[in-house]
Amino acid sequence: MSASTTPASSNAAQQLFERAQKVIPGGVNSPVRAFGSVGGTPRFIASASGAHITDSEGKRYIDYVGSWGPMLLGHAHPEVIEAVQLAAVNGLSFGAPTELEVQMAELICSIVPSIESVRMCSSGTEATMSAIRLARGFTGRDDILKFEGCYHGHSDSLLVKAGSGALTLGVPSSPGIPADFAKHTLTLPFNDEEALRKLFAERGDSIACIIVEPIAGNMNFIEPNAGYLQAMRELCTQHGTLLIFDEVMTGFRVSLGGAQEHYGIKPDLTTLGKVIGGGMPVGAFGGRRDIMQQIAPVGPVYQAGTLSGNPIAMCAGIKTLQLLQKPGFHSELHAKTGRLLSGLKAAADEAGIPLCVAHAGGMFGFFFSSADKVTSFDEVMACNAEHFKQFFHGMLDAGVYLAPSAFEAGFSSAAHSEEDIQQTIDIARKVFLDMAA
Ligand code: PLP
Repeated sequence: MSASTTPASSNAAQQLFERAQKVIPGGVNSPVRAFGSVGGTPRFIASASGAHITDSEGKRYIDYVGSWGPMLLGHAHPEVIEAVQLAAVNGLSFGAPTELEVQMAELICSIVPSIESVRMCSSGTEATMSAIRLARGFTGRDDILKFEGCYHGHSDSLLVKAGSGALTLGVPSSPGIPADFAKHTLTLPFNDEEALRKLFAERGDSIACIIVEPIAGNMNFIEPNAGYLQAMRELCTQHGTLLIFDEVMTGFRVSLGGAQEHYGIKPDLTTLGKVIGGGMPVGAFGGRRDIMQQIAPVGPVYQAGTLSGNPIAMCAGIKTLQLLQKPGFHSELHAKTGRLLSGLKAAADEAGIPLCVAHAGGMFGFFFSSADKVTSFDEVMACNAEHFKQFFHGMLDAGVYLAPSAFEAGFSSAAHSEEDIQQTIDIARKVFLDMAA
């Protein structure tokens, strides 16, 4: 094992990456996959099963990326695969209503506390983009409010002070977004209640919606301070502003009913993705019926999709949602993830490496920081980036696949066994000691 920042990767992986870069920008179809912030060659994945992924050279890793969140049951869950196989023989897409879509909508409405009516789409980006349009159409207002370091997909209005890949690349917003769009996206620091109250006192009546990751998972893992989401709820109600919880990441993961159930706050609209498709491309947005009735064809706000509600994706999603409703699913996952995090923390302490950890359900964060709790974007930026790189590569070399960026949350799954967790901690202990040497 090596904890050096010079990554170990084989010639074959390097050759594949070079081949990829000739025909795909950066060799990848989504920026963070390129290992830009940690250096080295990305692993090309050939297969996955349960808590493990196997790369193109046959090396197996314990996986804590889980396709960036969807694989809450673990990879290639036999019942999900069977549901997809059975659906595929009936045809791949019809462009007409199916009973499966009704079943999916009924499931979502029964699980997510604030959703009375829901529209399916094909990605989290589509879900947030459409929810924003709906909020603007419903309120007749143009301005929206988002928070620094929160990522809501790559649509124009939302790629302003975004987290995740945009942070990893050091590009807080992107060229190609007209200033006339960006000016309608107001931004505030996450967890700053005073700034929120001040902004609403000044111009709350012109803000169509707040969109927020109720637990921010695109600048690592930042929980809301006590009372912060409640303050948003109250200000939105007072000012006729819609509250949108972007639960693309937290939905079905931090608890069955998502962060809104975890914190007991009802947003007006919710966006979903990732877990809801069980690994297939799916997004959804839903909420109060009176607002959702503004969407075409009932209302004037246009939104559509050739592959929306795709039958294969619906089958994967329905089976996933059914399986994670098993009693005790989320409490077991939370406890298991807690054991992982406290093991990592103890191992770091032994080596004298400052580490701060946090988790909810199957989502977690670790920060190379001596703080007891990391609560803001500025604190995330102040963490030790060099330690992260060393840890990432040490773990990767020894067979643990973590997100290749210090700004991403980690994901555990029902398929991670106690043995996987213990093995991860044992490997981490050695990596921390190497780092301290
Ligand atoms: N919202 C959040 C909170 C996300 O984490 C993401 C993606 O990571 C998105 C929206 C965009 O989803 P997608 O990548 O499916 O477009």
